[in-house]
Amino acid sequence: MTEQLKEIELKAKEELSHAADLKSLDDIRVRFLGKKGEITAILKQMGKLSPEERPVIGQLANKVRADIEQAVTSAQNAIKSKAAAVKLEAERLDVTLPGKAPKLGNAHPLNATLAEVEEVFLGMGFDIVEGPEVETDHYCFEALNMPKHHPARDTQDTFYINENVLLRTQTSGVQIRTMEKMKPPIRIISPGRVYRSDAVDATHSPLFHQIEGLVIDKGITMADLKGTLEMLLKRLYGEDTQLRFRPHHFPYTEPSAEVDLMCFNCHGKGCSMCKQEGYVELLGSGMVHPKVLEGCGIDPEVYSGFAFGIGLERITMGRYNINDMRLLYENDMRFLEQF
Ligand SMILES: [Zn+2]
Repeated sequence: MTEQLKEIELKAKEELSHAADLKSLDDIRVRFLGKKGEITAILKQMGKLSPEERPVIGQLANKVRADIEQAVTSAQNAIKSKAAAVKLEAERLDVTLPGKAPKLGNAHPLNATLAEVEEVFLGMGFDIVEGPEVETDHYCFEALNMPKHHPARDTQDTFYINENVLLRTQTSGVQIRTMEKMKPPIRIISPGRVYRSDAVDATHSPLFHQIEGLVIDKGITMADLKGTLEMLLKRLYGEDTQLRFRPHHFPYTEPSAEVDLMCFNCHGKGCSMCKQEGYVELLGSGMVHPKVLEGCGIDPEVYSGFAFGIGLERITMGRYNINDMRLLYENDMRFLEQF
């Protein structure tokens, strides 16, 4: 019987060492230690033993049972910790991996330029005002000294909604709206969309942007206009920027001037970019016409002022060397990501 017990212990330990999971461990435990298990079977035969042998075998049987129980427990623990290790490995988090940064966009070149223009003017004490894009004939033309059938209207091909309502062709209507509401001194810029029924090409679009400027006060002269524009353009194009004022005609300013910028490619010598001119046309400006002031209830004998209209596309294309206006509207990421 002693031999049998020792054999059972060896067999149990051998089987335990091969058990791969908790379920098979439990099967082994039941088979050796259970009520119908092998050790119980031995103990049932104890009656056949002599009184001397019984305690010896009983003791041995208890020891074998305890050893097997201990072996089952340690095998259980081994399997549990192995499973935990596998689980940990599977759920491992590498905190040193770089995170996924959200993709940041950047400002559209038109918006970036406008933001800079606004900053320059805010720094000079200007207010930024807005006007409606659907405008009346009165504000877009009439009040700007362009009565019906005035030839200057022909240069602005217009989207009419009806005879008196149109998509504004210029931001200059905001001049009138501002002078009607505010008393001098007035210092404003007004950026916004304007519309003309132009066919799309490299330098034309039916929708583009202007930045209107207006200053009205006592004693305002062309020198103030020139100083203001110089301040802006040097900020946009660099300190060595040179401007040229060229006489022009606008019905709502007198005198009027177009402002050219010295070509940043050839510095005035003439090249293909400036069509050998040395300068590129940039914006229109002038002293507000006395008739326009009068129409808004401002006495031209007391007050004077200047106004200008800048094409946002034009100054943006000049700054970034963009040669086709259409690129600004196509929303092609390959283009926009360059800025
Ligand atoms: Zn040039």
